[in-house]
Amino acid sequence: MSFTYKNDNLYAESVAIKDLMPIYDSPLYIYSRTDIENNWRSFDQAFAQHPHLICYAVKANSNLAVLNTLAKIGAGFDILSGGELERVLTAGGNANKIVFSGVAKTTAEIRRALEVGVRCFNVESSAELSSIEAVAQSLNTQAPISIRVNPDVDARTHPYISTGLKENKFGVDIAEALDLYQSAQKSQYLSVQGIDCHIGSQITEIAPFLEALDKVLALVGQLKQCGIEVKHLDLGGGVGIQYRDEQTINIKSYVNAIINKVGEMPVILEPGRAIVGNAGVFITKVGFLKQNAQKSFAIVDGAMNDLLRPALYGAYHQVLPVEKKNQGILADWDIVGPVCESTDYLAKGRKLSLSQGDYLAVMGAGGYGFVMSSNYNSRPRVAEVMVSGTQHTLVRKRETITDLFASEYLYKH
Ligand SMILES: *Cc1c(COP(=O)(O)O)cnc(C)c1O
Repeated sequence: MSFTYKNDNLYAESVAIKDLMPIYDSPLYIYSRTDIENNWRSFDQAFAQHPHLICYAVKANSNLAVLNTLAKIGAGFDILSGGELERVLTAGGNANKIVFSGVAKTTAEIRRALEVGVRCFNVESSAELSSIEAVAQSLNTQAPISIRVNPDVDARTHPYISTGLKENKFGVDIAEALDLYQSAQKSQYLSVQGIDCHIGSQITEIAPFLEALDKVLALVGQLKQCGIEVKHLDLGGGVGIQYRDEQTINIKSYVNAIINKVGEMPVILEPGRAIVGNAGVFITKVGFLKQNAQKSFAIVDGAMNDLLRPALYGAYHQVLPVEKKNQGILADWDIVGPVCESTDYLAKGRKLSLSQGDYLAVMGAGGYGFVMSSNYNSRPRVAEVMVSGTQHTLVRKRETITDLFASEYLYKH
């Protein structure tokens, strides 16, 4: 973990964050390259000799520098769109290590993915299977496919990030998957590769994963009886991280539990949050302090448009001072942004000693942070910096006011 205090200063690896602020300004995302690498390796190394591919879920943080860091150490990628595909290729990712997930792949996206030679399409409906088959036929090629099954297990996570229940839009009912595999098997334009599931995100216990795995393995057995050989098992992402004080999953134990169940079968995992979540922080500056009889508000320059998770999920992020000081006003602060919405907060009731101009670090912001940011309230999107040891590099420049409407036209009638 690279975000730690030395002499009351919060560091990103070997760089004091306070020293970055005059250079890059606030608000700012900061990522630790070492943490990203170590987090990916903790999955990769846990599998040891067992055949596997760790496909980083690009949607968690799709900055080119993040993707390039992972491509260089041999990562595969899980993508959800043509945009993510081009990002991975631009960042030096290997097409043969890309799995293409998502419920609504367009014909153009399927064609491009076939042309560059992705490893596998994770198929989420029979209509999508037909579409992939038609595109493969038009290119006179074979599309590698897995069916994403919905194992109907409760991931026991936030309902907005649970995907493996029957009521969710994702995947194919496990009972219907057999039919789909049989029609895929018959097609000369489809090549059955694997079986896939992804039951949700921020899952903090192993049990739901293993419950899903058992159901998937039962289907693998059924498929075998029908003469359909599945070559890999993709168990998706979803491994939770510590945002507060929650116990979460030990990756080594999780991987060992998988290996114990799957025999020789190669395994693909698609972790996103677990790779980048705690490898990034969001820095924001205290603008005004506002106290009344009931409440203490610290109004900061970062907002829900920059970091949406608190507003969207009521998510908890730890908030730490960039410099620990003894001055300031000690109170239980609600840390709120300038956006005109009551849900515009980053944290509530945090005991901190604050003064105007202080910088605060919102921890665990490396995943589903910048990627969910928007220009709401005509706020330019913030800069992103990557730190490695004593080095720091701008990996996305701050948007300017003119960037905001550079693609718009006046109405000319
Ligand atoms: C979101 C997603 C992931 C990554 O989930 P995390 O919780 O970030 O690990 C993996 N696979 C699919 C199909 C996804 O939609």
